[in-house]
Amino acid sequence: MTAARARPRMGAIRLKCPYCGFIEDKVIDSRPVEDGSVTRRRRECSFCQKRFTTYEKLESIPLIVVKKDKSRQAFDREKIVKGLVKACEKRPVTLEQISQMAAEVESMLYNSLNTEVESERIGEAVMERLKEADEISYVRFASVYRQFTDVGSFIEELEGLLEGKGAPGGRNESV
Ligand SMILES: [Zn+2]
Repeated sequence: MTAARARPRMGAIRLKCPYCGFIEDKVIDSRPVEDGSVTRRRRECSFCQKRFTTYEKLESIPLIVVKKDKSRQAFDREKIVKGLVKACEKRPVTLEQISQMAAEVESMLYNSLNTEVESERIGEAVMERLKEADEISYVRFASVYRQFTDVGSFIEELEGLLEGKGAPGGRNESV
């Protein structure tokens, strides 16, 4: 064991139990996820014994998002998650699928090695994945993301989606 760089002892962080609020837990399982840049820990509350999960990520070089109006802000995966949760409301998409999609988009962006990314690219990458997961959620997300200003373009998007589907047992279009 070498004491190389200062390594944050992330497993030692005490967290508030999401069930009872007690601040003392033990880590019962710890494993790397994605490409190893994230550590998933199963924790057990020392008071109520309920289990919860944390994802710990080493802070890396910030990725800057360039918005449509050319303003810039740091990339935030949580925003993708929030947008997806909203779009997938009452749809058969699990939170796990959502985190997976957000994680995929994030690693794709980081792997591109660009320090700046246009917000539209993020949106398209999210939509690509959402389209495969659930079409209704996809249209909802797209409607917000592309900021449709009129119903017409929204319907166009929806129609294009249904036409392009062509799945057996689907709806009959008689227009
Ligand atoms: Zn507890």
